[in-house]
Amino acid sequence: MKTWKDHIRKVVPYVPGEQPQGDHVIKLNTNENPYPPAPGVRRVLREMGADQFRKYPDPSAGLLTRALADRYHLPAEQIFVGVGSDDVLGMAFLTFFNSKKPILFPDITYSFYPVWADLFGILYETPALDEEFRLRREDYKRDNGGIVLANPNAPTGLCVPLTQVEDIVRWNQDVVVIVDEAYIDFGGQSARALIDRYENLLVVQTFSKSRSMAGMRIGYAMGSRALISALEDVKYSYNSYTMNAPSIILGAEAVKDEAYFRETVEKIVRTREAAKERFRQMGFSCTDSRTNFLFVSHERVSAKEIFEALKRAGIYVRYFAVPRLEDYLRITIGTDEEMEELYRFLEKELPKMGAERAEH
Ligand code: PMP
Repeated sequence: MKTWKDHIRKVVPYVPGEQPQGDHVIKLNTNENPYPPAPGVRRVLREMGADQFRKYPDPSAGLLTRALADRYHLPAEQIFVGVGSDDVLGMAFLTFFNSKKPILFPDITYSFYPVWADLFGILYETPALDEEFRLRREDYKRDNGGIVLANPNAPTGLCVPLTQVEDIVRWNQDVVVIVDEAYIDFGGQSARALIDRYENLLVVQTFSKSRSMAGMRIGYAMGSRALISALEDVKYSYNSYTMNAPSIILGAEAVKDEAYFRETVEKIVRTREAAKERFRQMGFSCTDSRTNFLFVSHERVSAKEIFEALKRAGIYVRYFAVPRLEDYLRITIGTDEEMEELYRFLEKELPKMGAERAEH
């Protein structure tokens, strides 16, 4: 009897949203940006030859780090870049959560957090959000090994004001507090404003949503020199070359175009606010999302039934078959045209649906 199987690390992996192939789908299930990356990114990509692939990339991703440092008025030593914010967050879990006490994050939040915790053997507790999915600050004022907050939160879309984030960070100065701001550009104030005052605060952002570059895989963290240097040490103990050459060059290019960034973010916010209204008119309740997605529940028809009907029609949204979330759908904000197609479908089909629920 071979024993190698007994020594395999057993994990329950994170399940990413589906990536259906083909042109005939409306893809509103993984919070991608419906608009293309900045024109400069498209131009530099066209001009980029394959010669640079011969050499290893700059392990410090200096060009990209400096572009971010200029953009956010920070020294480059206060920025760490990685392969999407998933890479940055995973590295941060591995680096900062190494005590015997449990880390804390809400019961409803980004479902990757418990996966990293399990993978790295980190204890965790998940204080429940209240009935309206609001964070209870008192839950984070007790002995712990670290804190992770997605702000705005996913999949609820709700944003905690900066004063409340600061209150939690101030109370927890003996541990590292990670604020995952994947969606912050669509509303809410970044905790970046606090990093000079709190050496224990790490703010993580991404190019995947507001910069339309999910496929390029770029994320970054901002924090004190001490935190960033600890992250670098762990990164160089694992893989020196996380960032490939095109990511470094194209990422730096994306950061330069502030006007395009603002224009596309504002467009998405406008579409989102109009969408909230349309969904309410169709009998959905809708959280006050500050992100590029809506979190909705229908008064009569189950989320699962709507999810399946949409999918048959080639419209992909996200449905989570887990307690507390099974009545909800998370719907990424698409272009106005895509959203119109979604409304057309729902307005036509919803009245015919819901028989299943009515029988109970
Ligand atoms: N944090 C949150 C809250 C997210 O929803 C996502 C997207 N799945 C991520 C982090 C990771 O995004 P990325 O790795 O593309 O930067």
